[in-house]
Amino acid sequence: MPLKIPFAKVDCSGNELKYIQEVLNSGWMTTAGKTQLLEKKFSEYIGSKFACAVNSCTAALHLALEAIGIGPEDKVLVPSMTFTASAEIIRYLGADPVFYDVDYATRLATPDILKDALSHHPGIKAVMIVHFGGQAADMDAILPLCRSRGVRIIEDAAHAFPSRRSGKWIGTFGDITCFSFYANKTITTGEGGMLVTDDETLFKRCKVMRLHGIDRDIWNRFTTDESTWEYDVVAPGFKYNLADLNAAVGLAQLERAETMRKARQRCAAKYFELLRDCPHLDLPGLEVAMEDHAWHLFPVVLRSSAPVSRNRMIELLFERGIGTSVHYKPLHRMSYYRERYGLQPEAFPNTERIWQGTFTLPIYPSLRTEDVEYISETLRAILSGT
Ligand SMILES: *Cc1c(COP(=O)(O)O)cnc(C)c1O
Repeated sequence: MPLKIPFAKVDCSGNELKYIQEVLNSGWMTTAGKTQLLEKKFSEYIGSKFACAVNSCTAALHLALEAIGIGPEDKVLVPSMTFTASAEIIRYLGADPVFYDVDYATRLATPDILKDALSHHPGIKAVMIVHFGGQAADMDAILPLCRSRGVRIIEDAAHAFPSRRSGKWIGTFGDITCFSFYANKTITTGEGGMLVTDDETLFKRCKVMRLHGIDRDIWNRFTTDESTWEYDVVAPGFKYNLADLNAAVGLAQLERAETMRKARQRCAAKYFELLRDCPHLDLPGLEVAMEDHAWHLFPVVLRSSAPVSRNRMIELLFERGIGTSVHYKPLHRMSYYRERYGLQPEAFPNTERIWQGTFTLPIYPSLRTEDVEYISETLRAILSGT
């Protein structure tokens, strides 16, 4: 049977084409007015002081750690239950990741887990928080915990736009927050990302390092009246700027961010309704209101009591036309991190329990209620052996 329900599907039903056309007409394809407008609108949306658009969330995370001064032999706490981008950027700077376990139900860092990790590893310079699946971690408790120990907080919010915790948008808590506009994220520019902060010094450093360590961005160089040719290089920076062509798509996506989030929330609510009490299945734990959740992912866990393995479940769903994914094979199981840091699965009991049984169900704006019903019925049928 051909795949009837893909795992992910982009929604580009807004002003995407119109804004792309404007960029093509302008004759300026790379970082310029559309990117600046996206930065302005994005920071207005969440109420952060500064926003810096980049060509990926990975780039944003790299710039963030560079800006707070992470360097060789520094240690940064990072969850094992995440995508490798959250940890690889620590290695870009010659620093070392120290991996932590997460809560089983939410896949989030908890204040207790972090308190424990910080006391076991005294030299930690920064903590990476991943707002897994679009649900924000308990930042009200995590911030004072880190700040009282002089530990910086970088948030990997690749899943978490728009997302709130205790009435505040993610992007207004830690030192720097990084969002992803990758093709399958909650809003997209194809490839892209956004870094936000309230700290002007950090912002300026990120902006300079985003484009070769040049002290003024290319737009200013070509549009100001004063000597437009001269610039200084203050550091060996990176090539991480977002192109206007991509920003055009982002502006159209941003306009529909809440509409699309609501549509994903509708899918999540239906899954909760139809899969509640489903035997052998653990649904994602909720610590925030439905409307505060970005609903990027709907991960479930098959218990060890289930009549089929996780891998077999994925095959059976595929055969019935349903695309799924796995978030994530943990980093402590990836050969690079496992071998370099001598990591043992026993050190990550919750992450292991998630990993053994987890798979992620489709959730996106154009996923119809009938689709969610079909997916839920198929799952239940497989688990009841019919
Ligand atoms: C997608 C993702 C990233 C990387 O985002 P890019 O924009 O592709 O660089 C980082 N962290 C997490 C948790 C992600 O899911």
